[in-house]
Amino acid sequence: MTDKNYDAEQVVAVVDRDRYVSDFRDVATFEECCRACPNYGNRWGCPPFDHDTLQDLLPYGKVMIVGVKITPHDTRMPMEQVYDLMRPELERLNKRLLELEQETGGFALGFVGKCERCGNAPCARKQGKPCRHPDLVRPSLEAYGFNVSETASKLLGIDMVWSRDKNIPRYLTLVCGLFFNGDNPVW
Ligand code: SF4
Repeated sequence: MTDKNYDAEQVVAVVDRDRYVSDFRDVATFEECCRACPNYGNRWGCPPFDHDTLQDLLPYGKVMIVGVKITPHDTRMPMEQVYDLMRPELERLNKRLLELEQETGGFALGFVGKCERCGNAPCARKQGKPCRHPDLVRPSLEAYGFNVSETASKLLGIDMVWSRDKNIPRYLTLVCGLFFNGDNPVW
């Protein structure tokens, strides 16, 4: 018996870093999208960054992309419940992503967006202070200029969908990435 109110389907793909950067990265376009978000400049995991983010990726030859499609059982869930619905999968993915980052000596890009690590306290970036949980927070693929919608559709076979009203869409899609060298890790 389970009390989960959703189904989760996970897909993993590994691609060469060069191909992923050349085919899926467009910093100018996605930074422009980020500028419209209230998190821009206000969260440590969000742009603008103080360095060329490509330099963080160049030491690694491959990237593992992991996507999870979350389908709520209730098709009329209001949008306000979106984080409650996503949270268990977000936490599961973040935990495994950080474990594999440690194991491989890689570089992870996760899901910071609305970072909840500090509870209701404002992000330390707003006070010009360092992140309080740098061991737990990783920027998103979007923040590093990657097209997540194309990543999901072309590499994972998941077509992302968006809400057309005040309810959560038919399903949600979470996508994260681990840049690494050597043998493919087991997700
Ligand atoms: S953990 Fe806290 S300080 Fe760090 S990015 Fe999240 S909200 Fe900001």
